[in-house]
Amino acid sequence: MKIPFNDFASPYQELKVELDGAYTRFMQSGRYVLGQEVEAFEQEYAAYCGTKYCVGVANCLDAMHLVLRAWDIGPGDEVVVPSNTYIATWLAISHAGATPVPVEPDARTYNLDPHRIEAAITSRTKAIMPVHLYGQPADMDPVMEIANKHGLKVLEDVAQAQGAAYKGCRTGSLGHAAGHSFYPTKNLGAFGDGGAVTTNDAGLADRVRLLRNYGSKQRYYNEVIGYNSRLDELQAAFLRVKLRHLDEWNERRAKIAAIYLAQLPTAGCQLPTVPAWAQPVWHLFVIRHPQRDALQQKLAAAEIDTLIHYPVPPHLAGAYAGRYAADTLPLAEHLAATVLSLPLGPHFSEAQAAYVSDQLC
Ligand SMILES: *Cc1c(COP(=O)(O)O)cnc(C)c1O
Repeated sequence: MKIPFNDFASPYQELKVELDGAYTRFMQSGRYVLGQEVEAFEQEYAAYCGTKYCVGVANCLDAMHLVLRAWDIGPGDEVVVPSNTYIATWLAISHAGATPVPVEPDARTYNLDPHRIEAAITSRTKAIMPVHLYGQPADMDPVMEIANKHGLKVLEDVAQAQGAAYKGCRTGSLGHAAGHSFYPTKNLGAFGDGGAVTTNDAGLADRVRLLRNYGSKQRYYNEVIGYNSRLDELQAAFLRVKLRHLDEWNERRAKIAAIYLAQLPTAGCQLPTVPAWAQPVWHLFVIRHPQRDALQQKLAAAEIDTLIHYPVPPHLAGAYAGRYAADTLPLAEHLAATVLSLPLGPHFSEAQAAYVSDQLC
């Protein structure tokens, strides 16, 4: 049985009639940038996340960068960020001109450890950016408590966790603002790039709307130095279709995760931990193993594709060379050396999950 990591063909097959309908509607609309599909998607996605506002942008990196810009966070400012995340979270801070200040995660959930945040806060700290990594919500109550105590903003990175919930509230509604990614591999994936900001803050939503469109509300009247970072109208039309199926597809992911949790060996393998308050959406199913590379080779020999999220922590990436000492974030480095993502998705079969489990035992 050959098992690819991602299945890009099945989503279109399953939703062909609806997606083709969206494409035809888009082609006949004559509005190709910031039209009614983007507007409708923004309303539908805000309602889904449980926020008042959603602003569609080009991708999640831009979403987070534009929020930091809208908050006037820039040179001389510091932003607390997990030491183990996709580098985009850090890059958003760097693009704003501010400095990423890494904090190590909880060793069991891989999400920001609230107990370590206060030691990283200085007089220059302006914001905290929790990431809901692998589709597991971060422990947000203590993060918000610390932020409120120190007068800091909280920007969630929801790229991997569309539909996840923390104590019954959806990710994207838990901080002061959130960045979302609709990159094709994400739980709510477009057929190209896409992103969004969600927030309950009307002023922030207005400012991000301004920044995404050349700093103008009214065409040719440019109030601030803005960007071109708009959610594409065609992608918005596709995302409206896929949003209607997101909960069901997340449930299918959860079924596969349940098979892995029941059937994978626990000796030598560290399986994911789900805290009682978390309702995860299993963007990735990540195990840890001390002989990770050998295990990955063994699975490859059985034609099972696996990936490593991520092999190099941001502070050791060439992009940040010379800025962070090599041994200051041992947990991030240990995770990078031991994590392995098993294949899983809404079109992954129970038989495939059983086969992968057998090969690992
Ligand atoms: C995918 C991802 C991003 C970046 O999303 P883009 O839409 O590609 O910019 C940011 N953060 C995390 C955690 C991600 O997984």
